[in-house]
Amino acid sequence: GVSPRGVRGNFVPPIRSNGGSVGNVTSRIGGKSDDALDDTTRTCLELLCGPDGELPEKLRNLEPRLIEHVSNEIMDRDPNVRWEDIAGLEHAKKCVTEMVIWPLLRPDIFRGCRSPGRGLLLFGPPGTGKTMIGKAIAGEAKATFFYISASSLTSKWRKSEGEHESSRRLKTQFLIEMEGFDSGSEQILLIGATNRPQELDEAARRRLTKRLYIPLPSSEARAWIVRNLLEKDGLFKLSEEDISAICRLTEGYSGSDMKNLVKDASMGPLREALRQGIEITQLKKEDMRPVTLQDFENALQEVRPSVSMNELGTYEEWKKQFGSLS
Ligand code: ADP
Repeated sequence: GVSPRGVRGNFVPPIRSNGGSVGNVTSRIGGKSDDALDDTTRTCLELLCGPDGELPEKLRNLEPRLIEHVSNEIMDRDPNVRWEDIAGLEHAKKCVTEMVIWPLLRPDIFRGCRSPGRGLLLFGPPGTGKTMIGKAIAGEAKATFFYISASSLTSKWRKSEGEHESSRRLKTQFLIEMEGFDSGSEQILLIGATNRPQELDEAARRRLTKRLYIPLPSSEARAWIVRNLLEKDGLFKLSEEDISAICRLTEGYSGSDMKNLVKDASMGPLREALRQGIEITQLKKEDMRPVTLQDFENALQEVRPSVSMNELGTYEEWKKQFGSLS
């Protein structure tokens, strides 16, 4: 069945605690005894709480569409995403630490007035690290991260016609149950990420009380991404001036754009060696020169920014109206 009441204050592990990692949870879903839940909800919780991101056995008997639906929303735990790999976003990291990490370490302190918030929304343009943060939290907290897409929180979604009836019912039921949990003493932390916050309805906003804007990377953050990616491969030979030039040229690039830029630039030396007639099968690593500013300048012609000024304005406005302002 569903995991028992948490042994650490308000924290109720969504994962069955036979793995020994009691209390290490990101999405605290639960808070009612098994008996209080009907079958649908119980199934729902179990689906969401697959302990290792793998589909639970029960799923195999359900319709393929539903399986797809649910597995799309359980985010894989990704050991490759660590806090240290996330450029910038100091404020967001600090908030997450306060809301998720500290309460796990000191449930005795995080009670009463200090009981952690129940919903966190990361919003902002695509490719800025929202998913990375989610995965990093999940890794840190050894929990399954339930990724709530904007569409599953909009009123449009709840009324959607095309969706398979049982899938719709399951999710609606889940949301209703969550409403119920809100009023009790138990805590639920939902972490949502979206690049279309405008589509969230009032109910979803109410559930996600802390709404953090995850903006495009600053110039320093862009420099850091370039350096970090190239250094990992032992390819970093750029001067400070080169880096500053790259930063000037990449105003408006997202983190994901920067990654694609580095990828393309790192192909420069390889392409050049091949142009000089070296066979790919014969190519030695020593035959390739380091990645240069010129490689980045060439790559800039291929990799263009993916977020428009217009879109940025929309996020800023939503932040002013609904977002956390610090
Ligand atoms: P989204 O905000 O759309 O969820 P992701 O977190 O999936 O974006 O980022 C996509 C990719 O872009 C990441 O895997 C990473 O390589 C790169 N990236 C985006 N933001 C950052 C960042 N702040 N620091 C380092 N890499 C980033």
